[in-house]
Amino acid sequence: MGSFSEFTYTLDRVRETSGKNEKVRLLSEYMRGLDAEDAELAARFATGRSSVKGSADETQIGYSTIMGVLEGLTGLSGREVGRVYVKYGDLGRVVEEILSAKKETTLFEETLTLKEVAQSFEAMTRAKGKGSSDMKKGHLKALLLRANGVEAKFLVKILTKEMRIGLVDGLVEEAIAKAYDTDRASVRETALLLGDIGLLAKRARLGELSGVRLELMRPTNFMLAEPMQTAEEIAAYFEGRPLDGEYKYDGVRAQVHKKGEKVKIFSRRLEEITASFPEVVEAARSIAYDFILDGEIVPFSKGSPLPFQLLQRRLRRIENFEAAMREAPVLYFCFDILLLDGEDLHQRPLRERREALGRIAAGAFREASMKKVSTGEEVEALFRLSRTSGYEGLVLKDPESPYTPGKRGKSWVKLKEELDTLDVVIVGAELGHGKRAGKISDYTFAVRDGESLKVIGKAYSGLTDKEIEDMMVKIKALTIEDDGYFRTVKPQLVIEVAFDSIQRSGRHDSGFALRFPRIKRIREDKGLGDIDNIQEVKKVFESQRVKVDEERR
Ligand code: ATP
Repeated sequence: MGSFSEFTYTLDRVRETSGKNEKVRLLSEYMRGLDAEDAELAARFATGRSSVKGSADETQIGYSTIMGVLEGLTGLSGREVGRVYVKYGDLGRVVEEILSAKKETTLFEETLTLKEVAQSFEAMTRAKGKGSSDMKKGHLKALLLRANGVEAKFLVKILTKEMRIGLVDGLVEEAIAKAYDTDRASVRETALLLGDIGLLAKRARLGELSGVRLELMRPTNFMLAEPMQTAEEIAAYFEGRPLDGEYKYDGVRAQVHKKGEKVKIFSRRLEEITASFPEVVEAARSIAYDFILDGEIVPFSKGSPLPFQLLQRRLRRIENFEAAMREAPVLYFCFDILLLDGEDLHQRPLRERREALGRIAAGAFREASMKKVSTGEEVEALFRLSRTSGYEGLVLKDPESPYTPGKRGKSWVKLKEELDTLDVVIVGAELGHGKRAGKISDYTFAVRDGESLKVIGKAYSGLTDKEIEDMMVKIKALTIEDDGYFRTVKPQLVIEVAFDSIQRSGRHDSGFALRFPRIKRIREDKGLGDIDNIQEVKKVFESQRVKVDEERR
């Protein structure tokens, strides 16, 4: 029986060592001794997840709930707990410190097992509606009462999804490969197909990696597109071969699974979003076959797309969902099919998949428009048409290519209007000026540079008043330090920023600055792992005709 204390002891050692190889070695040696079920839980927990990817709900335990339980357990006031929090900026470590001090006097019973922890997490997830908050608190309290300081720390780290021990998914995959003597490449491939690292560990432990197939109701990772800057660049790369030119729809990427009467919709982060789109569920049910489709859910009315932002309320399903549905009717534009009646199509060429898609989806869903293009002029003309019809640009696809889950390759390339946009993470915030005085509305944001984050700019325009209000609440909750002028914010909120150009600059630690940045949208569908990196910034910088070096002007 995998003990939770042995697991957390291993993670603590992983945290303490800075070498990647050593981290992998520690975890793999630990995992080698586990049965398949415990391997599943250990891999999942080690990446800071409490439940399998694709589950509709998660434990949904917020900071305030944890703080509340902590106060109840220790008799400390919220203020006192807050003081320890400021020291670490990490709730897990706060809990460890506070509970370790208290633990001397507690007689704890039998030690926790991985399975018991998983069962408690499931119980928290199941708690719904009236009284659910108290039930969740009860489960958490019961766990913490039985946990030692280190265990408590990791319980909280998992629940807040903030593992921060330098163990990215890639390293856990390496540890799985090493623990169960499998080659790294096939572990990676299977990981992308399976979507969930826990399931990956389980299958590897059972020696069943080669048997993994796509499965209905289990989300797989989405195929992604590589950005290119111009129509000519695209035509040149494909050497004039005919491509499928599709509009780039501006909505929510969605994978729709149907099996009999059952329908599930998954987002780009493999979260279940079925309940937000009842009309898509209805339409899927009207198709006689079972399938996995890929496409984009777009707010759409009277023949034209509506602003993407309208979907936010539907996704969050906060008050008055009916009104949000009326305000933002949606269409599902499907552009790919991965599985049809038990037949796995994802490795077939796109032209065959498109043909199958046309056969089954017509009538229920709108198929993404598709036109064959091969020259730079044709790409450019279709691009203009997409813009005048209200779409974001084009996605151009090689008709001979297979569907490669989770990969950003050149079989799909995208062409957008702006020079480009960047997905960045907010790392700081300040009060605004003028109309926005008194509101936290100036955001400092960063891109990734290896393991660290580098600031590249500040933006304040682009959000609606309502969005600013929502952001304020989130930023307050994520503030690590507030010196009165500037709040340092935990890097979690991803925004997409448009800009006029990129210049070299000594203002920020990235060495670059965006000129006239504006927030295009809040990317709730993206997390810290999805933001752009400094290489992307350099690429855009190099592609500019005029390169400004701010320091030298
Ligand atoms: P972006 O920020 O440009 O939306 P992304 O990082 O979410 O990009 P990419 O794969 O880089 O994802 O770009 C393609 C995105 O465009 C898809 O994720 C999808 O949401 C959207 N999209 C819209 N129309 C299509 C289409 N016809 N084919 C593929 N993707 C499409």
